[in-house]
Amino acid sequence: MMKTDIEIAQECMMEPITKVAEKAGIPEEYLEQYGKYKAKIDYNFLKKSDKEDGKLILVTAINPTPAGEGKTTTTVGLADALQRMGKKPMVALREPSLGPVFGMKGGAAGGGYAQVVPMEDINLHFTGDFHAIGAANNLLAAMIDNHIYQGNDLNIDPRKIVWKRCVDMNDRQLRFITDGLGGRVNGVPREDGYDITVASEIMAILCLSKDIADLKERLGKIIVGYTYGKIADQKPVTAHDLHAEGAMCALLKDALKPNLVQTLEHTPAIVHGGPFANIAHGCNSLTATRMAMKLADYAITEAGFGEDLGAEKFLDIKCRMAGIKPDAVVIVATVRALKYNGGVAKPDLNEENLEALENGIPNLMKHVDNIKNVYGLPCVVAINAFPTDTKAELDLVEEKCKEVGVNVALSEVWAKGGEGGLKLAEEVVRLCEEPGDFHYAYELEGTIEDKLDQIVQKIYGGNKAVLTAAAQKQVKQLTDLGFGNAPICMAKTQYSLTDDPKKLGAPKDFDITVRNLKVSAGAGFIVALTGDIMTMPGLPKVPAAERIDVDDEGRITGLF
Ligand code: ADP
Ligand code: MG
Repeated sequence: MMKTDIEIAQECMMEPITKVAEKAGIPEEYLEQYGKYKAKIDYNFLKKSDKEDGKLILVTAINPTPAGEGKTTTTVGLADALQRMGKKPMVALREPSLGPVFGMKGGAAGGGYAQVVPMEDINLHFTGDFHAIGAANNLLAAMIDNHIYQGNDLNIDPRKIVWKRCVDMNDRQLRFITDGLGGRVNGVPREDGYDITVASEIMAILCLSKDIADLKERLGKIIVGYTYGKIADQKPVTAHDLHAEGAMCALLKDALKPNLVQTLEHTPAIVHGGPFANIAHGCNSLTATRMAMKLADYAITEAGFGEDLGAEKFLDIKCRMAGIKPDAVVIVATVRALKYNGGVAKPDLNEENLEALENGIPNLMKHVDNIKNVYGLPCVVAINAFPTDTKAELDLVEEKCKEVGVNVALSEVWAKGGEGGLKLAEEVVRLCEEPGDFHYAYELEGTIEDKLDQIVQKIYGGNKAVLTAAAQKQVKQLTDLGFGNAPICMAKTQYSLTDDPKKLGAPKDFDITVRNLKVSAGAGFIVALTGDIMTMPGLPKVPAAERIDVDDEGRITGLF
């Protein structure tokens, strides 16, 4: 019988984290141990080291099926393959959120023989970063309501508070709540709500901050709500107005430090930060990426969801803010996701279907075209081989890619670890030496509408962005407030290049409807919502939590 992810992970004889740190080249004085197999790295190391940055490799994917297509698995396996080749790689990944761990998707530490360990710790609490983020978020919430209770000198309109409380759990019960009930001494009643911690702006801020000073400045800029008055007279009220940023930053000082762990093959891995890929930019912290580049010759990182969402935001938001760019891009494709894009229903994905596979391939080609021709970056398609794939199917994808001159490599890292990724690794090494001609999909100068149109036209392949009347008003308000030149963080379904999750493949001749725009002033981007975006997920009918357990020895089972 095939072993589960957690069984494989628990069989791994991990190296002490000090040894992993030594291999990575982290001096002892910058290492803070959290037990035997986890440590934090002091970000001051970035300022001290004069080593030249290593190559940066971005792993992204085609439009996925609801199960995920193996970006994390490929990221980890590729690093292990590079290590086998005698290179010096390092992985940079997001930290998993408890919501999906107990909900549907499960853990996020890779799969099969390409995982980061200790996987139970990484998936559950880890080094406490997310709890610290929740605490900072809820401190600000408490200070807002206390300010109103104490007389409301800032004239905050309780109906226009945009700051929610948060908890790292899928808990739909908390989406909309009324609080401050119980009479005069118990607060001012108002409508409120909770987001999942990973959807909090604090998470996005932590992931984009360079150091403590930058973090504090960004926290201060958070807009918590608006004053009473007509739309033209409303003034934003910030965390700085409430004198909250110092204490929030104090709660976050350790969460800002990247976490060091290892892969199953003892390649050093940084797992740090985990902003939602819809309401935020969806990749690990900037500090983690820069640290991996500083320490290794090849830093391999993943961006959430498919290329249209994840890579677009990685490149247009994160790379722009950090002043970095990838040297090569890996686009993960699976036979099952291509069949899904070719119209096969989820329950039938395990059966061979060459016709549907061929129909789904235009989706892959659009993503390749974006990376090569919009962004000007060298790329390779990694076919992530599943046990259910047939040889005829795998051959067909390879053949189609070759026909149009796209680099392609079969990746078997899930089944074989680093050894299964050698072909991919060789291609990545080769691509890293190719000259790139990187440009963003849009420039920051120009109107908000312009930028939206460029993303829709260049990346999604559509005609234009259509703004609802409400969204048009928000464009004016945000521009008047001075946010017109901020990058755009698209909130869109991950299943389609359009805003309709049912339109699969590579649709043409469509518009994208933008219903709502809001600024995340601390993170430094404008969020464009193209539909109802869930910022507090719920648990499914049978939550993964029902299968998770721990024995008398403290050994955890049922995580996957
Ligand atoms: P993503 O990062 O794209 O969301 P993951 O790497 O987390 O995807 O993989 C999603 C799930 O699919 C995991 O449970 C993983 O174990 C499984 N998986 C990934 N690659 C394979 C494969 N080649 N064969 C079987 N299962 C796989
Ligand atoms: Mg992933």
